Amino acid sequence: MNEERNGRREHGPILLSESQIAERVRLLGAEIATDYAGRLPLFVGVLKGAFVFMADLVRAIDLDVEVDFMALSSYGRSTETSGVVRILMDLDEPVQDRHVVLVEDIVDTGLTLSYLEEHLATAGAASVEVCALLVREGRQHDASHIKYVGFELPPAFVVGYGLDAGEYGRNLPYVAEHIQ
Ligand code: 5GP
Repeated sequence: MNEERNGRREHGPILLSESQIAERVRLLGAEIATDYAGRLPLFVGVLKGAFVFMADLVRAIDLDVEVDFMALSSYGRSTETSGVVRILMDLDEPVQDRHVVLVEDIVDTGLTLSYLEEHLATAGAASVEVCALLVREGRQHDASHIKYVGFELPPAFVVGYGLDAGEYGRNLPYVAEHIQ
């Protein structure tokens, strides 16, 4: 599988359709707008995977917001975690005293997330909450601190809606299982 076919590579079953995602993102946006009313939250997207989710999420929030991005490396081009997180690109502006919403594509072991939460807390953020499009079931030590969750996901490795496998699949408008 995974061969070229009409210029597109194949993927497995679609797990989340475009409309399912759109509806969930709309609800998350409404919830966040209520929670952050009267504040100017800073949305920090984790590149590259969160870029699509981030773009849709901030437009679903009826509040003034600011956005920034960080790029990390923990997986390289492999589908298994290396257990090492490195900052490839840091934030433009200081997060001191800011209410930060960390936007993640998928939380698997939670390693990337704990690293980032600590990094932002150390940098003096007034608060840090997490908004993850996907959370893989049963893989984290403690998932209770992930405040905004799009969907819980079974063990399959997925592509689409920003998520890739070796850079393939980021522009698929849905989330599908990746075929190794
Ligand atoms: P964690 O540090 O929580 O184990 O891993 C989180 C990161 O691993 C995500 O931000 C994402 O880059 C990558 N990742 C984990 N599971 C998947 C998956 O199923 N598909 C893709 N494309 N990336 C994943």
